[in-house]
Amino acid sequence: MGGRDATMVLLDENGIRCDGRKVDEPRRIMIKAGGLKNADGSAYIEFGDNKILVGVFGPRDVHPKHMSNTDTGILRVRYHMEPFSVGERKNPAPSRREIEISKVIKEALEPAVMLEKFPRTAVDVFIEILQADGGTRCAALTAASVALADAGIPMRDMVAAIAAGKVADTVILDVNNEEDQAGQADMPIGYMPSLEKITLLQLDGVLTPEEYKKCVQVGVDGCKLVYDLQKKALNDKYFGNKGG
Ligand code: UDP
Repeated sequence: MGGRDATMVLLDENGIRCDGRKVDEPRRIMIKAGGLKNADGSAYIEFGDNKILVGVFGPRDVHPKHMSNTDTGILRVRYHMEPFSVGERKNPAPSRREIEISKVIKEALEPAVMLEKFPRTAVDVFIEILQADGGTRCAALTAASVALADAGIPMRDMVAAIAAGKVADTVILDVNNEEDQAGQADMPIGYMPSLEKITLLQLDGVLTPEEYKKCVQVGVDGCKLVYDLQKKALNDKYFGNKGG
């Protein structure tokens, strides 16, 4: 999340955003289930200019053993940005931001995954950000849900995610990098549409109570669009002719 640049035109007089979208229009989203033959489950997502690959391994034995839980399985998530994924080369060492996002994604997935069915084991989720353009945590969470389903891990629902936000005093759907840097607010939301439960909600910026409610509504509606694409990706692999 960067500084706010008030000089940038984020919304023109016709209500068009800096990348040509309308206020309630998401970026182009493409999700593919599968693709990594050495993983138990995998997914690839393009969310605007974000490009993200996710591999899932497990349920499998936990080493060291004392990290395991006799009552339930555990979920481990690593969100990792390639040094070349951003304009200014990222230091390959794990950053505070990557550690935080790994934790946030893990906590957003946990309500969806039936870990209690696999005591003493771990499910590992590896997220590789190949290209970043704002909203990587939402795109990664969306792809991770598909990869977990692709691995055949029992789930209560999939988590679909997208960010709502505010630019030029207007609530928008799917915040891109420029809007994140120069806009007024960014609210990533993760949502389980069948269970109607929010599992991720963060907010950077300032909103009035009315704007807050509108952002949640716009974000949840956006998650429902993302959910349809998640289901389509799994359908294409398992019931269509575009198997991965
Ligand atoms: N970013 C970057 N360098 C970094 C980290 C982030 O250029 O070391 C960019 C990247 O495009 C990312 C955006 O800043 O998507 C917004 O980052 P934020 O921390 O808000 O997380 P995100 O929106 O990706 O979930």
